[in-house]
Amino acid sequence: MAELILKSGKERSLFRRHPWIFESSVERLDGRARPGDTVIILTPDGREMARGAYSPSSQIRCRVWTFDPAETVDDAFFKRRVATAVGRRKALPELAGQEGVRLIHAESDGLPGVIADQYGDTLVVQLTSAGADKWRKALVGALVQATGCARVYERSDSEVRTLEGLEKVTGWVHGEAPADGVGILENGVRLGIDYATGHKTGFYLDQRENRQLLGKLAAGKSVLNCFCYTGGFSLQALKGGAASVLSIDSSGPALARAQANLALNPGLPAERAEWQEADVFQALREFRKEGRSFDLIVLDPPKFAPSAAHARRAARAYKDINMLGFRLLNPGGFLMTYSCSGGIGLELFQQIVAGAALDAARSARIVRRLAGAPDHPVALDFPEGEYLKGLLCQAD
Ligand code: SAH
Repeated sequence: MAELILKSGKERSLFRRHPWIFESSVERLDGRARPGDTVIILTPDGREMARGAYSPSSQIRCRVWTFDPAETVDDAFFKRRVATAVGRRKALPELAGQEGVRLIHAESDGLPGVIADQYGDTLVVQLTSAGADKWRKALVGALVQATGCARVYERSDSEVRTLEGLEKVTGWVHGEAPADGVGILENGVRLGIDYATGHKTGFYLDQRENRQLLGKLAAGKSVLNCFCYTGGFSLQALKGGAASVLSIDSSGPALARAQANLALNPGLPAERAEWQEADVFQALREFRKEGRSFDLIVLDPPKFAPSAAHARRAARAYKDINMLGFRLLNPGGFLMTYSCSGGIGLELFQQIVAGAALDAARSARIVRRLAGAPDHPVALDFPEGEYLKGLLCQAD
């Protein structure tokens, strides 16, 4: 096994169990390692610290698999890690009975570069690092063994693979496509999952609890769901007894799936749902001109700031939609607003929303702070894992 020797002082973040070693922290590599190979990580004075996956083309030159330098990284290692991650979900009562669950949340489950989402008896995996890519077979085998799922689809087409020097890979890696598609029942709502063409692994499981919360707030209300994707929030609002639900997204295919999802739920009042293909920024301005208003508005935009470097421009975009949102709220209305940008922390997000309310000349208070569901944990040693944050604001 090749040895990766750290620069002086650069061992500190590893002592804190942070799993990333940047290119700038590496003194040298003794021996040869191909992309994804396991290397042993040493302090400048030769002390063995950890084992990790080497990635020569990435700025993150190595991702730690284990902080026990004596632990072998082999098929059995991945079997243990996967079983532990699956076990963590089983120990969370709020996930009991859910058909759609994130089983592996990358670094926060000790498996950098590995995402695995379960949709019924189908698993969708996404491998984003050279190390994860190398251990595909072991990971898939371990997942099938831990879950008993019938099939696994690989959705490794994320742009970040390019940074790791990896090609995009998609397709069935275990079992075959089910004839009747993939779907889940989420808190009483049936949803089809576009595992091959949808965003991420097909669905945003991280918003599960927040969608349920929206359902609880929706009775009798006029709801505006911005950035609705495949209608997760919209359908929970209908189930919760909303008087009307207007859903907006700029993606035609997402809206088509949203409407198909509604059709999968014959018990829901389809006549109360309206779908609009539009740019949210424009649509909200139009509504303002038309004098329209709503009791409950959801803003769940895409990641405006993929990293802290984009934070300034992103902050402007967040402020803009939140200001428009506040302006369209009826007296006493609720704004449920999110950011899934890693580059925007909770504190900054709250400041942005406060500024937006001020500009809209609305006074409001936070009645709930919102985050990702518990199957998307944030390891304490890996604060970068925190991305989804939200506020439920009640306006005057
Ligand atoms: N709330 C959804 C997830 C939203 S993902 C859920 O619970 O499943 C973000 C969505 O925003 C995507 O569907 C994307 O198509 C859409 N989108 C991105 N930019 C947009 C824009 N400017 N106007 C409208 N929709 C946009």
